[in-house]
Amino acid sequence: MRDYSRELNDLSCRIWDYAELKFDEARSAEAIASFLESEGFLVTRGIAGMETAFSASWGEGDPVIGFLGEYDALSGLSQEAGIAEPRPRAGTGNGHGCGHNLLGSASAGAALLLRDYLKESGKPGTVMFFGCPGEEGGSGKTYMAREGIFDQLSTALTWHPGGGNAVLTGSFMANCQVCYRFHGTSSHAAAAPHLGRSALDAVELMDVGVNYLREHMEPTDRIHYAILDTGGTSPNVVQNHAEVLYLIRSTDSEKVRALYERVNKVAKGAAMMTETEVEILFDKAASSTLSNSVLEDLLFQCMKKIPLPEYTEEELSFAKAVKDTCRDIDPSGDISISFLPNREKKHYARLYREKLMADFIVEHPHLDVYVAGSSDVGDVSFVVPTAQFSAATVTPGTPAHSWQMTAQGKSGPALKGMMYAAKVLAEAGKQLVDDPSVLKRAREEFLEETGGRKYVCPIPAHIRPHRNIRELETGLRNS
Ligand SMILES: [Zn+2]
Repeated sequence: MRDYSRELNDLSCRIWDYAELKFDEARSAEAIASFLESEGFLVTRGIAGMETAFSASWGEGDPVIGFLGEYDALSGLSQEAGIAEPRPRAGTGNGHGCGHNLLGSASAGAALLLRDYLKESGKPGTVMFFGCPGEEGGSGKTYMAREGIFDQLSTALTWHPGGGNAVLTGSFMANCQVCYRFHGTSSHAAAAPHLGRSALDAVELMDVGVNYLREHMEPTDRIHYAILDTGGTSPNVVQNHAEVLYLIRSTDSEKVRALYERVNKVAKGAAMMTETEVEILFDKAASSTLSNSVLEDLLFQCMKKIPLPEYTEEELSFAKAVKDTCRDIDPSGDISISFLPNREKKHYARLYREKLMADFIVEHPHLDVYVAGSSDVGDVSFVVPTAQFSAATVTPGTPAHSWQMTAQGKSGPALKGMMYAAKVLAEAGKQLVDDPSVLKRAREEFLEETGGRKYVCPIPAHIRPHRNIRELETGLRNS
């Protein structure tokens, strides 16, 4: 079998360098698209209304195995590679603090490896790669699911970089993000306070109201907010504009919807109290995840079959230097163990504190639990049987979305973890081609869980993909 490590290392490091934000990943998407095209894949660019979304396919007939790839970076996480202290990289404020440079590259590698297997074996089947933009706060896959992009698949498989090797089980949370914009009346705060109506008061009262609402929601619900606009910096002016962004999460999209309606009532109440107006701008949403025990078992077998990476002294000493900067961080939040029951989580957290790199696979029990966090992979999982795992690319204990994560994005262990992930995904694809009964069972479980109900997109139809609230509004005006 051909070895793609040189090409994939190059691809991943280039995407790390580009560090492009959600829906701006032009060079990152093109790097993967043109690479797959040069390998004979049929590439369709700009799908589902997003310039940086694409699909690539090779082969024909069933099964149709889909690999999901991401490549967006995060704002504010600019960091030089290969050093163990915070030092922003010149020329950009962005960084790959979630390892998506590795994510997209490994999934593309899996597509190539499975293509080679289909070619050599002469077996029927189609391999597809999906370039999924804007995972970080953009819900790219949700728009793709809405457009029916994944309908043609027999299964979707993906992975995520992290501190450990584990099949991801349980359900991530459904969410929605909403902007509440208040309009008031400005006035001189000392000379004519009675003529002013404060939009900032409205934001503050809304936040207080929501904080009281917390007592009367389910323990698995989550509400977070960030004030985007405080109405200016002058206390002697009654602020006539203010804006707050809410992220609302629950265990499924229906519950998110209900909680969203309650938060809206609080916003309207705050507007009424302050005699201001509130504008409600629905920003984006993602579904919870529907896990699939058949596919999880398959991934676990493949993870055990593919040899885990081995690390050099030099690689481990860099891992140690980074680890020393995150000693006081609890490693139990790592994506590879966050879904485990407390006892098991504590056991692995202890190991993660000791190990410089995770050189083992977390035991896999299929669990029906809620995982604190959200991902737009969830929307794919309600369209087609889907499974995912994490592979060790950083020293365990590295927080997600941190400078330490960005700093390790081009390291030897990161690139080795990426190759391991590519091989695991490809092996899973190969076994699905060889034994159609696995997909049949995965499909049966999927149908049982969904009760045959069709996927409902949590983003209203009139909302188009957008980089920010301003772009959202332009889209709404033009629609
Ligand atoms: Zn991520």
